[in-house]
Amino acid sequence: MQIQLDKIGPDGLDVDQKLQSAWINEVLGAEAPFAATGPGSLNLHLSRAGDVVYLCGRLDIQVSAKCARCLEAVELGMDVPLEVALFPRGDEPKAAIDGEISADDMGVALYDNMEINLAGVIRDEIYLELPMSALCSEDCAGLCTHCGVNLNAEPCQCPKAIDMRWSALKDISIN
Ligand SMILES: [Zn+2]
Ligand SMILES: [Zn+2]
Repeated sequence: MQIQLDKIGPDGLDVDQKLQSAWINEVLGAEAPFAATGPGSLNLHLSRAGDVVYLCGRLDIQVSAKCARCLEAVELGMDVPLEVALFPRGDEPKAAIDGEISADDMGVALYDNMEINLAGVIRDEIYLELPMSALCSEDCAGLCTHCGVNLNAEPCQCPKAIDMRWSALKDISIN
């Protein structure tokens, strides 16, 4: 998904696009811990001031991830706000590289050859927005580290290290 700079006229350029799950997965890459479960949508407005392109809009996607504790599939709906300033590579302001102009949460990206690689921008923004680890619920009990049972579904018979500590405490008498 490439956008030529000369397509961005004085009124800017709107991009409203349905995204196929296969395309999203390709953008996320084979190593991604998340996979798209359905089509998404991309709504963008691009405007240009000289060589600098401002991109703002939003991305809606549905992804599935594994719960970090119990490994069950978790469905996540992601509504990613996009706000990125794009500079021609080699001509970017130093402050952008040092991260000094990201105070207002605007992302900074570079483009080459008068062409914006939208897929690359989208990938970076998705990764910024994805939670570090997904949980099926805040109080997911996870898997037993000894026997591997999913503790959300059934208790297991393994002795609990923490319980043993507590019972040891009970034997201490305070006089
Ligand atoms: Zn879980
Ligand atoms: Zn167990």
